[in-house]
Amino acid sequence: MQKTVYFIEGDGIGPEVWAAGRPVIDAAVAKAYGGERRLEWVQLLAGEKAFAETGQYLPQATMDALRGAELAMKGPLTTPVGKGFRSLNVTLRQTLDLYACIRPVRHFEGVESPVKRPEAVDMVVFRENTEDVYAGIEFASGSPEAKRLIAFLRDELGADVDPAAGVGVKPITERCSKRLVRKAIRFAVDAGRPSVTLVHKGNIMKYTEGAFRAWGYEVAADEFADNVMTEDEAATGGKPVIIKDRIADAMFQNALMYPEQYSVLATTNLNGDYLSDALAAQVGGLGLAPGVNMGDTLAFFEPTHGTAPTIAGKDKANPGSLILSGAMMLEHAGMPEAAALIHAAMDRVISSRRVTVDLASQIADAQTVGCKAFGELLGE
Ligand code: NAD
Repeated sequence: MQKTVYFIEGDGIGPEVWAAGRPVIDAAVAKAYGGERRLEWVQLLAGEKAFAETGQYLPQATMDALRGAELAMKGPLTTPVGKGFRSLNVTLRQTLDLYACIRPVRHFEGVESPVKRPEAVDMVVFRENTEDVYAGIEFASGSPEAKRLIAFLRDELGADVDPAAGVGVKPITERCSKRLVRKAIRFAVDAGRPSVTLVHKGNIMKYTEGAFRAWGYEVAADEFADNVMTEDEAATGGKPVIIKDRIADAMFQNALMYPEQYSVLATTNLNGDYLSDALAAQVGGLGLAPGVNMGDTLAFFEPTHGTAPTIAGKDKANPGSLILSGAMMLEHAGMPEAAALIHAAMDRVISSRRVTVDLASQIADAQTVGCKAFGELLGE
């Protein structure tokens, strides 16, 4: 059966990583399924290309198509500066309620890493994408809003807040925490992953981060009783997935020192932001960092890097993140054999040491090839 994949080329290096990457995705599908054409690509406009053609950065037709879609992929989008624009990415995530940002992090043999045993790094971060301090509820020091809020906090609640403080709000809800953790556990169960770790700072922020932790355990107990057990129960064994939690600061240490103990991580927005970038840096950086923003219907896959304007149009960009995002898309769309071919091709080409310039600096005796040539090697 053919699946429709809506795609946005993106700005900066977007067109060149697509030109190099899409044939690799198509070739993997054709190879895995006897030449069958299982993907129908439909281009949508967004970003600078959309602005040039329609006068809009995010045309209505693009949003309408995405609202009814199940699969989409995008390249990076430039955020227009200085005209009061919100980031296009944030607008897409919020408008389409793509509440889970999911980033797998695994090591490719031969790529230098700051960790001692990079081969043990194989984690998938589920980051809550809609709330936390990213809700944008912030008031500047001395502003009338901050003053009123602080007066309320001091006078009505007896809180000891400096009247000159800037103030931010960190909303964390049961609904959003549970749907994120539910997705992480469902993924772990389906993918045969050994554990889900709730990463939080509940020792300091009891009613936000601590509540996230408590709601996470509730989902595990209420909805996955047959599949999930706690660390205490794991001593006697019995169920495939262990649910545990770690304080965020300890998690950063543990991810470096004992990566083999962690598989799926579920966390709040800010922790997830830090954690996904830190983990990506352990295994090759932005050129090999795929991702997806997922809601209940739409899964919107994208490389995690930006438009890299200084190398755009120079055939220097690494299309790896886009291609690995394509592999995630294939897996999600029920084509794991094609996804496995992409991973095998990535292993093969990286071990041949013919790689784009960003990876060449991380691989001993590497030979630098361009974006297009790297794609061609992966598609062989
Ligand atoms: P960036 O990711 O574009 O670049 C950071 C560094 O990594 C640069 O040195 C760049 O050359 C390099 N780099 C990034 N991707 C690469 C690749 N595929 N191959 C080789 N090198 C690569 O981040 P930035 O400079 O902070 O942002 C540039 C623009 O991208 C901004 O307008 C920003 O808003 C946008 N952005 C978009 C997204 C997105 O669409 N998801 C994400 C991040 C940034």
